[in-house]
Amino acid sequence: MKTLPLDLKRELSLVTWAIKKPRFVEEVNLLLQSNLRDRSVACVEAGERVLKGQKIADPVDAYSVAKHASVSGQVKAVATTTHPVFGPVACIKIVSDQNIETLPEYGCERNGLQHLTRRQCLSIFQEMGLTEHDLHAEPLHVKLSTGFPKSETLFINACEPEPYVTSGYSLMMSHPLEVLKGAEILRNISDAKKIRFFLDQNQLDAAEFLKSKIYFLNWKHVEVEVLEAKYPQGLDDLLPLEGYGQTHDAKKPLFKAATAFAVHEALVLQKPQTERVVTIGGECIVESQNVWAPMGVSFAEAIKFCRGLLREPRKVLMDGPMRGIAQKDLNASVYAGTQAILALPKEEVPLVEAEDCIRCGQCIESCPVDISPVMITLAAEKQLFDIARDAGAEQCIECGNCSFVCPSKRPMLELIRYADSQLQWQSLTPKPPLPRPRRKFRTLALKK
Ligand code: SF4
Ligand code: SF4
Repeated sequence: MKTLPLDLKRELSLVTWAIKKPRFVEEVNLLLQSNLRDRSVACVEAGERVLKGQKIADPVDAYSVAKHASVSGQVKAVATTTHPVFGPVACIKIVSDQNIETLPEYGCERNGLQHLTRRQCLSIFQEMGLTEHDLHAEPLHVKLSTGFPKSETLFINACEPEPYVTSGYSLMMSHPLEVLKGAEILRNISDAKKIRFFLDQNQLDAAEFLKSKIYFLNWKHVEVEVLEAKYPQGLDDLLPLEGYGQTHDAKKPLFKAATAFAVHEALVLQKPQTERVVTIGGECIVESQNVWAPMGVSFAEAIKFCRGLLREPRKVLMDGPMRGIAQKDLNASVYAGTQAILALPKEEVPLVEAEDCIRCGQCIESCPVDISPVMITLAAEKQLFDIARDAGAEQCIECGNCSFVCPSKRPMLELIRYADSQLQWQSLTPKPPLPRPRRKFRTLALKK
């Protein structure tokens, strides 16, 4: 695999793996759509009081999932907010009453758990609003519904290949048993025989901790594999999955550790998807930390959980500096795919003028999936999306290597995402595609 010799140091200001619980949340804007295909419709009205965990939106089709209040309070309106990836989407605005009053069954162990059938489990996942905890937020009942005939192993990706981001690491350190039990539920539903966890060398203590819990449970069918901490090795599409190789398109029994945790919460403790661990970090944050961020809380308010901004950031990213999505609007809402919110200063993201491609081929050399980033981006600039597809736009795993190595500082990843979203839009037509990226500047957001 082609990897970059980057010194991807961890967030130095992360002094503890404990996860902070915010005491006050003013308002949440709960997205009615977590990805391009997911749609739900409000089942509450403005003025109604809701409890944390209460269903507030029904799925409109078999693909979509229900949505739940992440705080107790009053529904203000069904309005529009910013999705950190897709832009404006419908949301339900709830003003918190600061009491965090939950539904009576929230957090209580479910009766008859061992008698649930596979179909009932999938139906619970849909009702509980469970999606994968990654950028695409695929509903879990959909991912699990067709099964994974090729593999006897279920894989859990707990790697965190990008700098700054430590939300998964904190979760593995603080809740290893819940993650293990969630993975076991997923294994049973998938009919797999074994579970294999992937962690990286930056998480050796978490790996040892996990192994001790596996020993304590005497679960001989669970293995832990520690990978070299080398970008982009920990990305889903590049993991060494037994029986799958590194095929991009195959449906794989691979889940994030945060998803396994959410499965345990939903199925065992009857907690819908109402919060997730988010790293609030970067040099502009007063106190970088991992926090339990309620779904729908704005990035601006999430930053306040960590005592706000030390100074004005040049760039705010959702997720890490290699693959993260720049946010113009800090009113964007946290959703299941938000692993991190990074506020980076001008020293970390200098403005650089993009120049024309000099045909050096470095982007092709650096691409771990052997596609042609230069062809895709040149085609995307000219709106020739069929050529972008032929050059492999849909196979891109969005690692950002090509952006990092390009000597002309071309906005490679933004252009590839633009082409991919246009191609998706052509096939689905549910929403307008992403806007075309600015041509003049790109910013570098990585420590060398
Ligand atoms: S084209 Fe995609 S997969 Fe290849 S280097 Fe660029 S971002 Fe990574
Ligand atoms: S790395 Fe940049 S300049 Fe070199 S071929 Fe690729 S796009 Fe062109």
